[in-house]
Amino acid sequence: MLNTEAIDLPVLTGEIVSPGQPHWDAARRAWNLAVDQRPAYVALPADVDDIVALVTFARRQGLKLAPQGTGHNAAPLPALDNTILVSTQQMRGVEIDAAAQTARVQPGTLWLEVTEASTPHGLFPLSGSSPDVGVVGYTLGGGLSWLARKHGLAADSVTAIELVTPAGERVRATADDHAELFWALRGGSGNFGIVTAMEFRLYPYADVFAGFMLFPYERHAEIVRAWRDWTRTAPEEVTTSIRIMHLPPLPVLPPFLQGRSIVVIDGAYAGDAEAGAAALADLRALEPEMDTFAPSSPAALSRIHMDPEEPMPFLGGGTLLDATDDETLAAFAAGVQPGGALLFGELRQLGGAVGREPEHAGALGAIPGEFLVYGGGAVMGPEMAPAVAGALKGFIDGLASWKHDRMYLNFSEEPTDPVALFGEERAARLRAIRATVDPDRVMVANHAV
Ligand SMILES: Cc1cc2nc3c(=O)[nH]c(=O)nc-3n(C[C@H](O)[C@H](O)[C@H](O)COP(=O)(O)OP(=O)(O)OC[C@H]3O[C@@H](n4cnc5c(N)ncnc54)[C@H](O)[C@@H]3O)c2cc1C
Repeated sequence: MLNTEAIDLPVLTGEIVSPGQPHWDAARRAWNLAVDQRPAYVALPADVDDIVALVTFARRQGLKLAPQGTGHNAAPLPALDNTILVSTQQMRGVEIDAAAQTARVQPGTLWLEVTEASTPHGLFPLSGSSPDVGVVGYTLGGGLSWLARKHGLAADSVTAIELVTPAGERVRATADDHAELFWALRGGSGNFGIVTAMEFRLYPYADVFAGFMLFPYERHAEIVRAWRDWTRTAPEEVTTSIRIMHLPPLPVLPPFLQGRSIVVIDGAYAGDAEAGAAALADLRALEPEMDTFAPSSPAALSRIHMDPEEPMPFLGGGTLLDATDDETLAAFAAGVQPGGALLFGELRQLGGAVGREPEHAGALGAIPGEFLVYGGGAVMGPEMAPAVAGALKGFIDGLASWKHDRMYLNFSEEPTDPVALFGEERAARLRAIRATVDPDRVMVANHAV
């Protein structure tokens, strides 16, 4: 255990919080409240100079550095006892360049802050299903959005990344400068330094056609099968997911949803309402109990999945599926039954631009497989963890026959072999880049390479 009292801390414009300070517990808290982070210090830098000072300090003290935006993917992190947790939550801000159709964000920026800023310009970022996921963490891990099958991974729409390297150097990585590092950062997560700014492309649409369709749980077998059949001929403009959900009887939910089991299809068509309605016609013909698909702004698109916007304790996990058949769908539904410990099981539609590696691709390349499957449950106290973990294991194991040997980094909630995340060749290239940039392995990322 580090004797933190004997150490001269760096003077920051922001703050460095030590164990025992009154706000220690608030500072070390991750968005995923089920993760108990116990680092040596928590740093809350206010600017890039603070980050350089932190890197210098960490090197002098033989400490490691774990950058964190929100802690949505804190679960796979190793023990942090000799590590400074560098929380970028105070470094927020978005600049939209409407003429260039690009955005520049500070490292602690959340997706909703970008979508709200880009909405008046009719410019869509490749944001995901949760409004309060961090832009940088999401994008460094790939970034699967509601426009993904049309525009590919968010990482592949990045035009520049600024960072402080583990050597304390400020670097701006683009396709032309520090190109190897630029490749590695776009999918290889926080293994290569602390990102201090990111710039990426935005896509012009007057609006997109997005929303959800809700069905009673009793129809799950019919609806899941019909959705799967529909995905096989759906155009690349459309990206959707289907969930079986068992909602708790909580007053934060509208009364008609409290304590109910439902099936929800949601997503977006990258285009206008007429073309979107035509693409979704077969799903609408299933006569959902509720259908909210409508022209949507970037900010509205951020919220169609109704992901929780406040920290919560959860255990989640998933895998990629290939060549699914009716048996797969039955196994999926069997793993997430009413009365079980999982709140939901979800299939996300892959393929299209997500399944093809673009010429300018970053480290992730493409996400293989037909669907991404993910499930999760709330862990309101440590005593609930074994039941949720057991249910999750049963859910994933039940789908083992269709499991792809690769996994998608952002949805990986436990330490995962880099070969499973990237494939042999890319994992080796990432290791080589890390050995050059971070030979002393100072960086602690959610998924180490
Ligand atoms: C409710 C929910 C919905 C989600 N929806 C989607 C979705 O639609 N699509 C999708 O692709 N993913 C989705 N995810 C997964 C999400 O993208 C990952 O959890 C991602 O890692 C979150 O980024 P973060 O910065 O918020 O989290 P953090 O846990 O803070 O960061 C994750 C990792 O990113 C790296 N990192 C973060 N900031 C920096 C930095 N400044 N410099 C260097 N490295 C850094 C670090 O290695 C860190 O451990 C979802 C997750 C949840 C919980």
